[in-house]
Amino acid sequence: MSCLLVNEVFWSLQGEGFFTGRPAVFIRLQGCYVGCPYCDTRYAQTIDSTLQYPQSAELFHKKQNTSLYFTIESNWLAEEIAKRSKHKTLAIITGGEPCRQDLTDLTQDLSKRGFYVQIETSGTEAIHCYESTWITLSPKAKPVLPVNWQKANEIKLPVRNTQDIARYEQELSKVPREKISLQPVSCDPQATALCVQVCQERNWRLSLQIHKYIGIL
Ligand code: SF4
Repeated sequence: MSCLLVNEVFWSLQGEGFFTGRPAVFIRLQGCYVGCPYCDTRYAQTIDSTLQYPQSAELFHKKQNTSLYFTIESNWLAEEIAKRSKHKTLAIITGGEPCRQDLTDLTQDLSKRGFYVQIETSGTEAIHCYESTWITLSPKAKPVLPVNWQKANEIKLPVRNTQDIARYEQELSKVPREKISLQPVSCDPQATALCVQVCQERNWRLSLQIHKYIGIL
């Protein structure tokens, strides 16, 4: 049993990567020191005990993006998610940088309740999770731990320009092509055109943030 710092829990569709379009419950953990300039979840970065709520079911009803977070025991969290979910589909653990925290218990607790669990990580921390967990590695502003390139089930690379691809050329050359997708940052048109071109050249996959195009969470 372990306790986790959790910013919010909500139900939506996975908008990116391999599982695009699948209904999912998102569990956003608090805390990140990676410092990406294009981060769209800055509210989930800061860990400051004055921002803590007492344990509360309010976690499931956050109306706006705030840095307030809860400390939750993983088994309780998994049980509450199971009770509130219409279907046992995909459970996505994201952040912040979720792997700052040991995810072994939460991934196991969710898996045992019938969810298929996915972690979205920048790869900067050691990944501790249950064996069946799907790991999406999204290399960002800080170096990826070498072991995480092998652990990942998919590589989803955020792209603003050609340097973002060149920076990881060596590592990407060792990854099977079907695991790799390029994702334009912030739906930027120039980045999108670049990703389309490179995906065609390299036989990689394009990942668009469809939730932003259709206006859902
Ligand atoms: S790793 Fe994710 S949460 Fe952390 S700064 Fe980068 S985009 Fe934001």
